[in-house]
Amino acid sequence: MFNNKKIFILGMARSGYEAAKLLSNYDNEILVTDMNEQDKEQVSELEKKKVKVVITENPIDLLDDTYDYVIKNPGIKFDHPLLVKARSLNIKIINEVEMAYDFLDKDINIIGVTGSNGKTTTVNLIYKFLVEEKDNVILGGNIGTPLSHYALDVKKGTYLVLEISDHQLLDMYNFKTNVSVLTNITPTHLDFHPSYDVYKNTKKKIFQNHTEKDIAVINSDDPESMNVTKDIPSTKYYYGTDKNDKAYYDETGIYYDNKLIIKLEDIVLKGNHNYQNICASIVAVKEYGVTDETISKVLKSFGGVEHRLEFVKEYNGIKFYNDSKATNCVSTNIALKSFSDPTILLLGGTDRGHSFYDLEESISNVKCIFAYGETKDRIEDFCKDKGITCYKFDTLKECMMKIKDVMEKGDIVLLSPACASWDQYKKFEDRGNEFKELVEVITNA
Ligand code: ADP
Repeated sequence: MFNNKKIFILGMARSGYEAAKLLSNYDNEILVTDMNEQDKEQVSELEKKKVKVVITENPIDLLDDTYDYVIKNPGIKFDHPLLVKARSLNIKIINEVEMAYDFLDKDINIIGVTGSNGKTTTVNLIYKFLVEEKDNVILGGNIGTPLSHYALDVKKGTYLVLEISDHQLLDMYNFKTNVSVLTNITPTHLDFHPSYDVYKNTKKKIFQNHTEKDIAVINSDDPESMNVTKDIPSTKYYYGTDKNDKAYYDETGIYYDNKLIIKLEDIVLKGNHNYQNICASIVAVKEYGVTDETISKVLKSFGGVEHRLEFVKEYNGIKFYNDSKATNCVSTNIALKSFSDPTILLLGGTDRGHSFYDLEESISNVKCIFAYGETKDRIEDFCKDKGITCYKFDTLKECMMKIKDVMEKGDIVLLSPACASWDQYKKFEDRGNEFKELVEVITNA
C-alpha cells in the first residue's frame, strides 16, 4: 500500500521520524513538517534518505492534491487547517500506527488496550504476564517506541501489546487487534473531540474489523463501556465486581472463572482501580493460556508503572508511594482511596485555579498535608477549613526533610500532588524521580 506514494507527514517528534524512516525504505516521496525545531541528527538522517523536512508554522501551502496520504501526529487536533485542507482535497488522513500496521506480518497476536484511564498500567500488566511464558513479546503503541520502529522486524507468532489512545484511534481504518481491552469511558480529553458522542465512538474503534473470532474485554462496572459495545460482533468477555464476570475482584481476592487466582493482600499494586486493571489483563492473557501461577507470581512483585501510584520503598514500617502522574484532584482521590492506613499527603504544583475541595471525599485517612509550589497557600486554606494539619514549604525537598521528623511506623507517605508540575519541573516524571531520590535520602540518613 505504501509504495510509490506521495506522503505528507504532519508533525515530526518520535512517531513522525519513525514513520518517515520506515516509509523511506520503499519508493515513496516523503515530506515531514513540524512547527518546532527538531533534533539535527535525526533531520540529517532523514534527509540522507531523501526525506524532505520543513520546519514551518504554516505548512498549508505545501499540501496539494498530488499527495496520496497525510500521516498525522496523534497530538494534532482533527480541525488543524492542514487536515481541513486534506479532507477538502480528498486526501486520506491516517496515523502512524495505522500505517505501520500495514507492514506487519499478519500471523501475529495483537492485544490493544484503550480507555480513559488505566491504559498504561493494563498494557504493562499484560506484557509482564506474557513475557514470563512467551518468546517475542513487544510492548508499544502510545508508550515507548513507535510501532514503525520495529514493524519490519515483527516475526510470525509475536505478541504485540499496544496502548492505543483515542487520538490514535480517530484515524485508524484497517488496523485490527485479536484481543481488545476497553478499560472505561469517562468525559476526559473532551477539548480534543467535537463531542462526547464522537469521543465514545472513537473508543469503540478499538473493536473495528472484529469478527466473533476476536475477543473484546469489557468493564461490566462501566455503563458507558457496556453501552458502546452492545452491537459489536466480537466475542465479549466481562470483568469487574460481578461474580458472573469472567474475571472479578471482591474484598478477598481476584477470581478468574470463579477460581481464586490471588488474595488481595498478596498483590503489591493497590486500589480498586488497579484491581480492575488486573482483572482486564488476566482476561486478555488467559486467551493465550497464561497460567494462574505466572499471574500470581507477577502480581506479588509488580509495584506498578513508574509515577502511577508506584510503590517506592518500605522503611521502618513506613511505605512510600510515588503518584506524580496525579495532576488533578480526580487522580489524587483515586490514590487516597487506595489506602486505609494513616497517610501523609504531599500536594502542590502549578496553579490552574482548580479547587482542592474536590479532595473532601477522600481525606478521612489523611494524617497531615505537606503543601508546596505555586498552590501552597490555597492548599493551606483548604487544610485550615477542614481542620487538617498543614506544613507549608516552597519545595518538595523542604517538605521531605520535615516529613523525616513526623513520619511514624504504619504511615503511608504519598506524593499525589493534584497539580501539574510545570511551576518547578519540566514534566511530572522529573518530579516523581526527585521524590524517589529524596525518599532514599531521608531513609538512608
Ligand atoms: P492512562 O495510561 O490511561 O493514563 P495509567 O495506567 O497511566 O492510565 O493511570 C493513570 C492514572 O489513572 C492512575 O494514577 C489512576 O489515578 C488512574 N487510573 C488507573 N487505572 C484506572 C482505572 N481502571 N479506572 C479509573 N482510574 C484509573
